[in-house]
Parts: sequence; C-alpha cells; structure tokens
Amino acid sequence: MHQLTLAEIARGLADKKFSSEELTRALLARIHQLDPQINSFISVTDELAISQARAADARRAAGESGALLGAPIGHKDLFCTQGIRTSCASKMLDNFKAPYDATVVSKLAEAGTVTLGKTNMDEFAMGSANESSYYGAVKNPWNFEHVPGGSSGGSAAAVAARLLPAATATDTGGSIRQPAALTSLTGLKPTYGRVSRWGMIAYASSLDQAGPLARTAEDCALLLQGMAGFDAKDSTSIDEPVPDYSASLNASLEGLRIGLPKEYFGAGLDPRIAELVQASVKELEKLGAVVKEISLPNMQHAIPAYYVIAPAEASSNLSRFDGVRFGYRCENPVDLTDLYKRSRGEGFGAEVQRRIMVGAYALSAGYYDAYYLQAQKIRRLIKNDFMAAFNDVDVILGPTTPNLAWKIGAKNNDPVAEYLEDVYTITANLAGLPGLSMPAGFVDGLPVGVQLLAPYFHEGRLLNVAHRYQQLTDWHTRAPNGF
Ligand code: GLN
Repeated sequence: MHQLTLAEIARGLADKKFSSEELTRALLARIHQLDPQINSFISVTDELAISQARAADARRAAGESGALLGAPIGHKDLFCTQGIRTSCASKMLDNFKAPYDATVVSKLAEAGTVTLGKTNMDEFAMGSANESSYYGAVKNPWNFEHVPGGSSGGSAAAVAARLLPAATATDTGGSIRQPAALTSLTGLKPTYGRVSRWGMIAYASSLDQAGPLARTAEDCALLLQGMAGFDAKDSTSIDEPVPDYSASLNASLEGLRIGLPKEYFGAGLDPRIAELVQASVKELEKLGAVVKEISLPNMQHAIPAYYVIAPAEASSNLSRFDGVRFGYRCENPVDLTDLYKRSRGEGFGAEVQRRIMVGAYALSAGYYDAYYLQAQKIRRLIKNDFMAAFNDVDVILGPTTPNLAWKIGAKNNDPVAEYLEDVYTITANLAGLPGLSMPAGFVDGLPVGVQLLAPYFHEGRLLNVAHRYQQLTDWHTRAPNGF
C-alpha cells in the first residue's frame, strides 16, 4: 500500500479497496520500522492519526467524498499543530506544544487528511541540507551518506522513502524545490500569498510560502487544492479564486513557450545535470513546446541579496524567543539580561545564531542603507527581469540545483558553500513567483530535478507541464533501494 500515490489512494478509498484506518496503520508500522534509518520524523502522531483515519472512514461511510478524505500525510514541524509538539527542529521549541492549528493544518484536516507525524527540518528552516536540526541530520533515502536537501528534508525523505504519500513543506529560498530535486520528488512553491502563512512559524516573512511535496504533479495538485486560498488571518494572503488544479493537468502543451535563461547554464552547473535538463526540454518539445533562450541579467546578485534580506527578517522574527514567553529557558538566570542571553545562546543552534547576527547587523543604523536597502533594490531588479522574460515565454525552465546531493558533513565548515546551492531557487522567492521541481533523472544513483517557473498565480500551468512530462517519463515512479 505504501507505493500508492494520493490519487491512487483516493480511488482505493472510494472503491472501498481499503479503509483509511488500514492504510494509516500500515504506514505507521512502516514509519516505526524504517524511519530510524533516515530520521525523517521528529514526532510520529499514532493516536491522532488513528482517530483522524476513523473519522475519515466514518465521513465516507456517511456518503461524503473528496480526494483528500482519509489521505495520510505529514506536516513539516514548523506548522503549528494544536496540542502537539511544534519544534521547528530547535532546542528552543523542543518543549513547545502549539495552542492552535496553522491554517494549512486546519484546512487539510477539514478536507479529511490524516496526520501521521511532524517531519524533520533544518532548525527554523535555515539550511539546504537538513543537517542543522536539533534532532539530528536527515539522510537521503537514495544514499544514506548524502543529504536529502533542506530545509524540508524530513518531508522529502519521508515521501521519497514511501513512508508518506505526500507532505506539507515550506519554501523561503528553495526549501520545497531543492529537497524535491535531491530526493526525486515533485515539489511546488506557490505564488507568495496563495497559501496562508498563519500558524507557520516565521523565518523570513516576505519570502516564506507553504506548498506540497509529493511524488507526482497530480498529487501536488490535490494537496495544493487543500492548502490554497484566502485567509483573513494572514494579511499577506491574497483574495484570488483558487482554480481546480486537477482539471488543467492534461491541457495541451502545443505552442507552450519555454524560456531557458542563459545565465542558468554557465559555470557552476554540474555538466551532468545540464545534460539531463536538456533531455527534459527535448521531451517537452515532443509535446509541442517551443524553446527560446532568455536572459535574467540580475540573477548573479540574488544570493547576496537573499542572504541579507532573509537574515534581516529572521533576526526580527526570532526576537520573540526570549526565554520568557515561549520555549526554552536557561537554568537559574541571575538577572533579565542573563535570562535573555543564555536562553537564546543555549536554545538556538549555530546557524540560527549566525543568521540573527548577520540580520541584526544589516538592519543596524549605519548599515541599513548599505546592505538592507541595497538588497531590496536588487530584489526589485530581479522581479523586473522576470516580468520582462514572461512577456516572451510562458514558463522558465532550468536546473533546480547546481550540484547533486552532497555528502553529509561536506559543507559543515563553509556556510557560504551551502548558500551557493540555492542559486537557482531563491530568485522565485525574491520575486514572489511560483516554482516547481520535478524529477528528471539520476547521476551516480542520485536524483536530479528540473525547475519550472511561471507568472504569478499560474501554479496550474506548472502542474500541467510537469504532469504531461510525467506521462512521458518514469523518473518519478522509481523508488530508492530498500524502500
Ligand atoms: N537554503 C535557504 C536558507 O537557508 C532556503 C531555506 C528555506 O527555503 N527555508 O535560507
């Protein structure tokens, strides 16, 4: 049963081939048996899962239907889940039980999903390797010596290992798309504002966006359908109707204009990845797409701009963790300053502290104009590049990552080397655009992803292109050895 996709599960439940409770018990057993090898869960919520599964079975028995009714999923451990530990993979929140559900969690629960657990991640979603978790690194199911990508590495590893058919994740600079690429999954970062951020523990508020991680584009469409929509509780949520994402999956690609940014294929890209990206373009051409070279001239400035803006926002967002109101508090503080200093010093890991310091520095008087304002100007230029490109093309295609999944520990002493891995993904966050990564092959047994970007609110187009590609290819159906 663990090989079933969300779409297949929906059919199986509707045809009464199995119940949600049976499926849920089978997957929970699998998680307990196999997850110790990859460490993709922080909490497994057996009791909640069984009770939600029974409730979903009862709703079906009463005549209700729905693609997600009874579907088992996991939530990245930064979505608040009422009464359940919501740790952000930090010692700071190791003892934190959220008093309410995030909007994404409650919307999906209403649609009938069953929560099997909370997935591992980089601490406060800062990272590209899922090595900074307080609960230990996540291993890539394709090769245990390699990282699964981050920060949603737990969600990705769990889905790739067939412990879950799909999971929620978040993407501030690539954290859905990059782990999707490194574990051979399909992952979608929606347009900024498409999915509510309420109840999602903030990293960088102007960049954070939640989305689905699954094996197929078809499943991403189903999960996104349950997540998307206006939420009055999130002031940046956008009141735009949510289209039926499954309805457009099979639309024709005849005449679809694909832009290949010349900057994406220069130095720094592993040539073996470049080859697989080109091969994916050939497949799409068979479906009638036409290819054009385009230019995104300001892309080279994206990493420096992002690594000013994201830490600046993080330094502000994380000021709420002060040892007083939430989470970790140091032992025997001598005074208030000592309480703040030691609670934060002991509660946050090294990467989080580095980001807070960089952010506070960039925002401080005297440096604000030199760093933060400059970065915001670059952000505008990057957005303008995309707007100009989308006058000529319908989607932009390129690699999701410049390199294959690296060995655990390989970049630990060089944070900037890890930052550089985000080169293709962060521009979409800076511009607020939707992006998708889909499996496009393997090099040395490690997965490679292709990224597609579209204009605002064209998630449906991304899912359509990826779905049609997945009708022609079988990369997304392959499972890692032993899973
Ligand atoms: N790797 C990027 C960072 O560390 C992106 C993380 C994310 O998208 N949450 O900031």
